[in-house]
Amino acid sequence: MMAEGTPAVADTPMTAQGVSAEAARRAPVNRILKFSSVDGPGNRTVVFLQGCNMNCRYCHNPETRALCVHCGDCVGVCPTGALFFSDTPPVFISASASCKNVADVSVLGAYSHESAASADASSPSARTKYVAYDHTKCIFCDACIKACTHDASPRIRNLTAEETFREIEKQLPYIRGVTVSGGECTLYPDYVTALFSLCRDAGLTTLLDSNGTLDFAAYPELLHVTDGVMLDVKAWDSSVHRSMTDTDNTDVLRTLSFLAERGKLEEVRTVVVPGLVDAEKTIRETAHVIAPHLSKRPVRYKIIAFRPMGVRESFRAYQTPDAALLSSLADTARAAGMTDVVVV
Ligand code: SF4
Ligand code: SF4
Repeated sequence: MMAEGTPAVADTPMTAQGVSAEAARRAPVNRILKFSSVDGPGNRTVVFLQGCNMNCRYCHNPETRALCVHCGDCVGVCPTGALFFSDTPPVFISASASCKNVADVSVLGAYSHESAASADASSPSARTKYVAYDHTKCIFCDACIKACTHDASPRIRNLTAEETFREIEKQLPYIRGVTVSGGECTLYPDYVTALFSLCRDAGLTTLLDSNGTLDFAAYPELLHVTDGVMLDVKAWDSSVHRSMTDTDNTDVLRTLSFLAERGKLEEVRTVVVPGLVDAEKTIRETAHVIAPHLSKRPVRYKIIAFRPMGVRESFRAYQTPDAALLSSLADTARAAGMTDVVVV
């Protein structure tokens, strides 16, 4: 069978950027969580997109980082036949050219037989095939995730904004809004813009969970349909940020100021990793940027205690911060002008 989200798009209209209009409105959806009370205010449906342009050492969901290279290693471990080889290439998906590693994300839909073959020369059956996913057969045993050595997941549906919204609207009577998360969801700005427009028309609030690398100034329509952004500020010092994520924080700090000035920040989060991040400086300086703009809208500062479960081997030695440190960091945020500070 043809996997969901794999129709041919070659004959659809093209945008000025040279990608099909349909491709620009698709994204690789890792998961749709029908109900969440921890991804923004009220009960919300959360859409998780696949692929990220940072390489956070303490990522708790490393299988959301990369895009499948169709090596085929996971197909044989699937107990239900939900994974299978297909001749049909995945639909092309357009990602934001403003993201730093666009060269990486450009492989999103441009898989070729050659790239599949070179990914794993030991899997002859994968050399001329693509790995497809039938979500109706999946029992979410995670065997495929454990088998993948590429930080990817085969459980991806390349959905349009309209297809995604059809799954969201089933929860309409029970949710206040929609949060789009990742991976890094702003790699797909056209898709998110289209999805949020549909959500707004249905009376839902719209939040983005982002690492701050997108230049929002270049996407005014996205900003217009986004009620707020939940932004990670991982480290104030660029060298520390780079050591943790392989990217400096210039774009993140630009986004912090840009969103705060426009009243588009919903929440800022900093993960406290003792011995790695100068959390006191990061929280104080971040709060100093936000506080002058709090009259435009309230902004929550969420201070998150690092926990070693699920992170990569090299980060398991780092300790969870104690309650006294977390309490003192909350005081730092309040002293710098924040009024809504939570520790989790
Ligand atoms: S999900 Fe991972 S193991 Fe499965 S085909 Fe893709 S890259 Fe290979
Ligand atoms: S999680 Fe789903 S797709 Fe992956 S191995 Fe299990 S049944 Fe197959």
